[in-house]
Amino acid sequence: MTAAYSMNRANLNPFLSAIAGDFELIAPVRTDIVRFEAVSDPAKICLDEQPFFPLKEFFFRKHEVILKFDGKRFTAPLKKAPKRVFFGVRRCDLNGVLHQDMVFSSGVADPYYAAQREDSLLIGFHCNEAPSEHCFCGSLDLKDFHDLMFFDRGEAYLVQVGSGKGAAFLKKFKKFFTASDYAVTDEDRFIEGVDKLKVKDISGVYDNPGWKPMVDACLSCGACTTLCPTCYCFELREVPSLQDESSERVREWSSCQLKEFTKVSGGFVYRESREDRFKHRIFHQLDYFKEKNGVNLCVGCGRCITGCPTRIDFVTGINEMKA
Ligand code: SF4
Ligand code: SF4
Repeated sequence: MTAAYSMNRANLNPFLSAIAGDFELIAPVRTDIVRFEAVSDPAKICLDEQPFFPLKEFFFRKHEVILKFDGKRFTAPLKKAPKRVFFGVRRCDLNGVLHQDMVFSSGVADPYYAAQREDSLLIGFHCNEAPSEHCFCGSLDLKDFHDLMFFDRGEAYLVQVGSGKGAAFLKKFKKFFTASDYAVTDEDRFIEGVDKLKVKDISGVYDNPGWKPMVDACLSCGACTTLCPTCYCFELREVPSLQDESSERVREWSSCQLKEFTKVSGGFVYRESREDRFKHRIFHQLDYFKEKNGVNLCVGCGRCITGCPTRIDFVTGINEMKA
């Protein structure tokens, strides 16, 4: 059982202003779309919609110089992120961070990811209802993963503490909170209508003909993997200078949906067909990762469906597969 607190609704913006005075505050803001951005004025925060992009880019950066060569020696330009507080993060995106932590911290921990992630504090905002018609987080085994979690209860917020870091942070800003002996229940976490994926184990449907309409509609554009909070494919490139002998080694996001991604030395392409690439994404999200790590990689945010140019809905597609 973890402690819960409450916060009067009128205290939220003063609390966020106080955070912004001490930390970099990052929260959903409406620009052309709703997206996570650094914010100094809490009045600009928009909690009405799921942000179009997840938090991924703040920790696993799209473009990262991991090695520099000045003509004589190599250096690793490791730059630590400032102390950042992320506010308004939905349960799916919090679990997206958890899964990326698993990927980048297992075995030899990735120092570039750690440098961005270490000094971050995650404050969740729990959905009372699904923010998108494509959410299906209720079909996946998501965990309580946050430093603090806010539940909107009208005149007040219920605030759940999820870590020692969250408890220390709350203590620092204790004037905004009231202690309570309430314990967050499964009912508090329940979101209506988000258990949409009815097939919980997809290992038996790899050869099902039901994939064909989805594969035929796929453009192999990679929008789905770019928008996904958990996808982590990347490529390494050498970028030599045209002026002198210096060069940089760069890590950039890539996608298993791109044919070039599986091309190896000698020109062999491991997943030549679009069908293989499409199924690989879904099976990695819902089967292979779980086999290795005990949890689905997918967190059910639905962004890959919302952002797909041909609106491929793999959840409905899998549900409708005939045995
Ligand atoms: S966004 Fe849609 S069309 Fe593009 S690669 Fe993903 S599934 Fe295929
Ligand atoms: S696979 Fe799709 S639904 Fe699952 S986490 Fe990625 S973007 Fe969200």
